[in-house]
Amino acid sequence: MIVRVLGSAAGGGVPQWNCGCYNCGEARGGRAPRRTQSSLAVSVDGERWLLLNCSPDIAAQIEAFVPLHPRPPRGTPIGGMLFTDANIDHIGGLAVLRQRGPHSFVLRSSSLVRAIAKAQTAFAPFAVAPHSWLEVPLSGFCPPTAEANDIVGDALSVRAISVPGTTPGYDGRR
Ligand SMILES: [Zn+2]
Repeated sequence: MIVRVLGSAAGGGVPQWNCGCYNCGEARGGRAPRRTQSSLAVSVDGERWLLLNCSPDIAAQIEAFVPLHPRPPRGTPIGGMLFTDANIDHIGGLAVLRQRGPHSFVLRSSSLVRAIAKAQTAFAPFAVAPHSWLEVPLSGFCPPTAEANDIVGDALSVRAISVPGTTPGYDGRR
């Protein structure tokens, strides 16, 4: 299995646009590495990729990793995404990927995360065809789909584990 760390920073990244702390200053000055917001890309064959969360930095993260570059004339080796939560840090990249193409994504999350995302205008288009947004079973493995680009349940086994937490600030931190 190939795992690529696309980003490793918390929400906002380093430097964060409104932060003047020591770490952000060092990153601005080129004395410390800049870091984009946390996300992983996972593949089995190097051809089909699953994103674990999709941060608002996704466009730069794709450009920085050649295996995620589009195939001509349009297309993407990204077949699916798995969201751990509905925080903007982890789901906001969908708004960046809104341009239509011949591709479709298989998205997976808990039913609550899906419901929160569907209520947002920027994310709702990803819950309808040609995409599919599937509920992750919390007591078993994700089943396969018929999508050729989707590696979950086919080449890769995914099992979700429920952990405590609240919904994002834009959803009222329920
Ligand atoms: Zn800072």
